[in-house]
Amino acid sequence: MSDHRNPSVIAREALKLLAERQLAPTPLNFQASYNEIANLPNLIPFPEPPLRQLAAALNPRGEAQVAHLARLDAAISGRSWHGVQEALLAFIAAGSGAGAPISHLPHETAQALLRLFEGLLPGFSHDNGRLVEAQEALLAVLRVHPCEFGRFDAALRQFATLVPCAVEEQIEIRESLLKLLHLIIENIGELSIDDSWLKGQIDGLLAAVEPPLTLRHLDEMERRLRDVMEKQSRARARSVQAQEEMRKMLATFIERLGSINSSSEQFQERIEESARQIEQAERLEDLAPLLKEVVVATQVMAEETAASREQLRVLQDKVMATEAELIQLHRELDDASSLARHDPLTDTLNRKGLDEALEREIAAMRRRDSVLSLSMLDIDNFKRLNDRLGHEAGDNALIHLAKVARNSMRPTDTLARYGGEEFVILMPDTTVEQGVEAMIRLQRELTKAFFLSGKHKVLITFSAGVAQLAETESGSDAIRRADQAMYLAKRAGKNRVFGA
Ligand code: GH3
Ligand code: MG
Ligand code: MG
Repeated sequence: MSDHRNPSVIAREALKLLAERQLAPTPLNFQASYNEIANLPNLIPFPEPPLRQLAAALNPRGEAQVAHLARLDAAISGRSWHGVQEALLAFIAAGSGAGAPISHLPHETAQALLRLFEGLLPGFSHDNGRLVEAQEALLAVLRVHPCEFGRFDAALRQFATLVPCAVEEQIEIRESLLKLLHLIIENIGELSIDDSWLKGQIDGLLAAVEPPLTLRHLDEMERRLRDVMEKQSRARARSVQAQEEMRKMLATFIERLGSINSSSEQFQERIEESARQIEQAERLEDLAPLLKEVVVATQVMAEETAASREQLRVLQDKVMATEAELIQLHRELDDASSLARHDPLTDTLNRKGLDEALEREIAAMRRRDSVLSLSMLDIDNFKRLNDRLGHEAGDNALIHLAKVARNSMRPTDTLARYGGEEFVILMPDTTVEQGVEAMIRLQRELTKAFFLSGKHKVLITFSAGVAQLAETESGSDAIRRADQAMYLAKRAGKNRVFGA
């Protein structure tokens, strides 16, 4: 409804209102007051200058905000309220994405990430303890609803630092597997001596690819196979030669048999002929040369038979010797894989095996930036045990210790026989304190599982020294330190574990 008062009256009132409200007498303000007094619909004017000021005050971050600000400018120029509103809302939304911190992950995102990291888990080797831990921590954070971004971020960063190494390890594992496969195929091509070979190697390979698939496992398998192949090709050459000799001997044998036959046939003929002539002989003088002929023929026959028998005996001996050699070759082949790097008595690694394992563990330690400890362990009063119960009981005690140690160690630990009654245990991811604890645990196991020699219950104890590898220390230096600590443990009264 409009006012019907005189416009000049309304104008005066409008000025008064401006003064009351302490508004600047701008044409815009005046028009607004005028409309208010006159009760006219107030068409809100487009406030371009303040909008320009606002736009100038906005500080865009990121390309999106710069674009939205340009849209805002265009909307102001076009005097479009709708455009201004859209551009401002878009500007604010882009800002919250770029700068403002997020407190929680959206539920769907957390779920998707959970599925992703759960899916990754089986892809990595389980003997990398730190990675598994980091991964489990990450999963635990993602399972909490709502998922705190800060905790997720920290867990993710921790996980991410370990992933490159683990991926590298996976690649190496795959390469090792391929190499193994090639070796097997090559080797199968060479196989000719015995089928049990094939079976043994396939069995070994199957054991090596049992999960968890670790580089340690595969390396071991590769080295075993190489040994077998090397030994096999050498043995094969010898075996082919031995077979050739055997064949020649057989040929001679058959020839000899033939000649025995033919000489006995000749003999038969000569004797029959002589018998006929003897029958027909009428005078004694005629008989003499005939008899002489029979005697000579008999003698020749006897000599030939004796010579043949002798030759056959020699041949037989040779055949038997060759056969024994072939059997020995086969036995050597059977043992080949374990002989080279394993102690046959205790089936632990020998010195050569230990050297290689130590080198590998040190490389892995440096690659993963983890720790490695090793223990030198020497049976107490072993000489006395040998003297009291015999050398065989001593041997069985060594086998027993190796068995108990293997059961008490972690699967990633390595056991090697260092010398007579001395063993070395490699313990990856283990500090010296943890290593000492592990050895004390083994001592306890050994007192529980005492060893039976005949009717005697024998308690075996050992003294040990544990050394943690220093950053740039060599394996042999660490072994030396562990050995010194072991020596101190002996001096202190035996059946003790000392850290180096
Ligand atoms: P300590 O407690 O100081 O270690 O005394 P010990 O008797 O264990 O040590 P010592 O070095 O005097 O003797 C080790 C003995 O181990 C001597 C050797 O006959 C015996 N030995 C070494 N290798 C074998 C083996 O393979 N079998 C058996 N039965 N005995 C072995
Ligand atoms: Mg000793
Ligand atoms: Mg000893």
